[in-house]
Amino acid sequence: MIVKSNIFYLCFYVSFGFWFVHCQTANQSSADLVNENTNPIKSSIEWMKIKETVWIHKSFGSFQGKMYESNGLVVLTNKGVVVIDTAWTEPQTEELILGIQSKFQKEILFLIVTHAHDDRMAGVSQFHKRNIPVYSTNLTAKLAKEKGYGKTNPILDIQTRLYAGNHSVEIFFPGHGHSPDNIVVWLPETHILFAGCLVKAIDATDLGNVKDANVVEWENAVKRVLTRYPDAEVVVPGHGNWGKLELLRHTIRLLVSSNH
Ligand SMILES: [Zn+2]
Repeated sequence: MIVKSNIFYLCFYVSFGFWFVHCQTANQSSADLVNENTNPIKSSIEWMKIKETVWIHKSFGSFQGKMYESNGLVVLTNKGVVVIDTAWTEPQTEELILGIQSKFQKEILFLIVTHAHDDRMAGVSQFHKRNIPVYSTNLTAKLAKEKGYGKTNPILDIQTRLYAGNHSVEIFFPGHGHSPDNIVVWLPETHILFAGCLVKAIDATDLGNVKDANVVEWENAVKRVLTRYPDAEVVVPGHGNWGKLELLRHTIRLLVSSNH
């Protein structure tokens, strides 16, 4: 009996060892893919749970030949799912929608897009195809039309809080920062702030894509968000790891040093 159970434990440790090594290798190779700018672009959506009802959907794309990851949000309510931003490409958005349906077995109630750039809106047509409402501000709707992303319903300037079952989402436009139309999304029930591309990750060393940015006004925009949501427990930037309010102060530091 003792011998038998020892063999059992031996088998268990050996299998666990293989599993552990395998996972380490898998993680390593996906990290390498992001860091070494290799092609092709990683195409599979990754999921990160922040709280029981809030997940990050992570997609991948390239900017100036370099590979980046991009964050959007999925909020689970008792009535269905709210999605914030599409994946970076159409195929990844298709995968995102199918992933939501199979992972959470819930209907998608609506999509909010936080500004008119590829990493927020490239997959809007996948939502239209399924008759899922796509909400934005007026300015994002106008820019999206010009850039060919398709139509959005511009209700967010007037309806700044949307209710979805036992959750709600608040939209705030803090002013021109990364783009003229960048908004942030506040989840009052979970104290999560989706700051999008207005805010940089803690390890970001530059401001990223500044083609449509206003690097002078940007600092004030971040300060307005800091003042409005001082009790944010989690801050999710457009790219990179989520963190706390420190991300906003880090973004201000990057802006100050870029303006001198
Ligand atoms: Zn952007």
